[in-house]
Parts: sequence; C-alpha cells; structure tokens
Amino acid sequence: MRSISIFGATGSVGESTYDLICRAGGAGAFRTVALTGGRNVARLAEMARVLRAEVAVCSDVSCLPALRAALAGTGIETAAGDAAIAEAADRPADWVMSAIVGAAGLVPGLRALRHGRTLALANKESLVTAGPLLMATAAAHGAQILPVDSEHSAIFQGLVGEDIACVERIILTASGGALRDWPMEALARATVAEALAHPNWAMGQRITIDSASMFNKALEVIETREYFGINPDQIEVIIHPESLIHSLVGFQDGAIMAHMGAPDMRHAIGYALNWPRRAPLPVARLDLAQIATLSFRAPDLNRYPALRLCRDVMATRGLAGAVFNAAKEIALDQFLAGQIGFMDMAGVVECTLARVMPEMCLESDVMTLEDILGADHLARVRAAEAVSALAATR
Ligand code: NAD
Ligand code: MG
Repeated sequence: MRSISIFGATGSVGESTYDLICRAGGAGAFRTVALTGGRNVARLAEMARVLRAEVAVCSDVSCLPALRAALAGTGIETAAGDAAIAEAADRPADWVMSAIVGAAGLVPGLRALRHGRTLALANKESLVTAGPLLMATAAAHGAQILPVDSEHSAIFQGLVGEDIACVERIILTASGGALRDWPMEALARATVAEALAHPNWAMGQRITIDSASMFNKALEVIETREYFGINPDQIEVIIHPESLIHSLVGFQDGAIMAHMGAPDMRHAIGYALNWPRRAPLPVARLDLAQIATLSFRAPDLNRYPALRLCRDVMATRGLAGAVFNAAKEIALDQFLAGQIGFMDMAGVVECTLARVMPEMCLESDVMTLEDILGADHLARVRAAEAVSALAATR
C-alpha cells in the first residue's frame, strides 16, 4: 500500500489532494502518514479521522488542545508548531504533497527530499527561495520532485520523451487575474475584495491576490528557471484570459506543444499522484466547439512591475530569490491588512531588493539553509521598514 503525507492539507491544494485520495479509495488504498494544517483544526481532525492518519499537526501551538480534543480516542497522534511539522516530514512516506503557502513550506519539503521521497511540489515559494538547494538535495538523495503548479505540470508533461536541450522557449500563460481589465490609474485604489475576485481559478487567498498583481507569475518565471534549468531569456509570459492553455513548450524546430484542460488543480495534482502513469480524473472535459476562440495578449510591464523585478532577481541569482519572496510575503500581508495599496506591493519589494542586495553576498549559487533563512529574515525586516516609510508619507 502506498504511503502519503499532505503538508497544508486544509488549504485549497490540500483539499483537492484530499479529494483525489478519497476518490481513489482513501484509507483502503493509501496509508496516510502525516496531515498538517494551520488553525482550522476541526477540518484537519476530520481529514485525519477519514484517512486514519498516523499524525495530525497544526502549525499554531495555541490550537493543539482543540486538535487533541477533536482526535481523542482515535489513536491518531497530535502535535503542533514548526518543529513538529518538520519532524512529520521525517516520517517515511512514498509520496509527499507540499502545499503549505509561503516560505514556511521550505523546511518540510527539504526534509522530505533528504529522505529520498517523491515530493509533489505546489509550494512554488520553496523553489523561488531556495531553488539550487532544493534541486541539489533532490539529486543527492535520489528524490523526485513533481511540479504541481498547473503551468509547471503542463511544461513537465510537454517535455515527456523530449530532450531539454532542444527546447527553444517556454511560454507561461497568465489569466491576468481579477483586475486584468481595469484602467491602469484605478489599480492603486483596488481593494482586497476586488483583487480576490479571480475570473477562472478558485485558489487560496494569497495566491489569488498574487495573480492580480502578477507576483504569482513572477514567482512562476523563477520557478521555471530553477526547476527546468533553462535560461531566463528563454522564458516568456503571455496573458491568456480563458486559462485553458496551461503553458507551452517551444522547440528548436519551431513546434510548440501546448497543454490544455479545464482550470482545475485536480488535474496537476492527479498527474503528480499517478505519475508516471495516467489515470482517470474528475475534471471537466473541454468542448472545443463551444469554446470557439482562445485569446492572447502581451503583458504590460508598467502595469505588472513584478514581471520586471523577477528578471532582476534571476540576473542576480544566489539569495536574491529568497529576498524577493520574503519581501513579497510582507508586502502581501500589509496589503491584506489594509496598510498599503495594491500597487505599493511592488514598490515595497523593489525597495527591499535595492537595500538588501548590497548588504549581502548574493552572487553564489552554493547556499545553505542558514544562508537562505538569514536572507529571508533580513528581507522581512527591510520590507517592514519600507512599509513604515510608505505609511509615513501618506
Ligand atoms: P491556502 O492558503 O489555501 O492553504 C495553505 C495551507 O498551508 C493551509 O493548510 C494552511 O493552514 C497552511 N499554512 C499556512 N501558513 C502556514 C505556516 N506558516 N506553517 C504551516 N502551515 C501553514 O493555499 P493554497 O492556495 O492551497 O496554496 C498552497 C501552495 O500551493 C502555495 O505555495 C501556492 O502558491 C501553491 N499553488 C496553489 C494553487 C491553487 O490553486 N490554490 C495553484 C498553484 C500553486
Ligand atoms: Mg500557477
């Protein structure tokens, strides 16, 4: 029986993973080792009961009594806190879903790779923050990383049987997010609720805002660079409002392989779950005659400064990705808290990059976890200062 763990089980990707595991036979077909969540312990406990998990871990220590009470008498172990989540990643599981949001997903993913596990990676932030370390760890321990971000799953599928040396370019599609058709002058006043109204995908709150600002696509450009190892100038971004083509791979003979499907994360998650085979999945089938047309347009870099900033990050390499991601997380927190405007997020990230780059040696690709956590921490401090400076000028 295959054993699995889900990190971030109570989130959007985690719920979709749970759904697929249940449909594939649940506790009768899989041995569930660890399930982790944040504060929603009622849901975490319910999932742990249904899948008969070995251990359920919540990130927030203050929620542990409630988790314990919810699982009393079941024999399911309970624990809480970052160290407990990391420990859960040390437990043997054949397939591990990394679906925590943010840089908090890095350590558990890294720990799973150190044990040679197959890591289904939704947590793009870990590749942006620590791509070289993650890829080197996987290689050193014979671990497989399977991309779960829909674009990267599409590219991965487009490369089956191909030689990466024959790839000329990779084209990432972007929906453009909730504010895609807003006049540029109005963007500065966009509220959280407006930025959350994503036209095509139902996702967690943070990635939905990142879609509207294109920080999500900026992270994905870096993710593409780190995962597939191709040059930044071979990675393009195109706005495709229908979100039916999930990405494209262009080869040196001029052929382009596009991956199409309904915008449903259960495709990419299911592909990673069944890899290297395919199995039936409960996703809607496309009716091309009904769809009739697909549209594309080039992104405007003035409208989406994140797409410009990710190019600087890739040119700098080293710890720049960790700085970029951490500054983005702080800027997003502050936008969600109503402290800064929608367009200020890019300003905070740009300012942080400008300040932190000269303060640290960011040029090396040989990085330790300590280097990365140090860069992440410093970037968070500087980003918070940039937010305060902005607030003072208001
Ligand atoms: P979400 O916010 O819905 O869920 C995040 C999960 O992580 C929850 O279980 C939450 O409790 C947990 N969590 C949050 N902070 C934590 C912390 N500090 N420590 C431990 N656990 C914590 O997020 P999501 O939309 O499911 O996204 C998860 C990851 O997948 C992100 O990296 C995101 O970029 C990526 N992703 C998501 C989608 C999508 O459709 N939602 C698509 C592609 C990639
Ligand atoms: Mg994506």
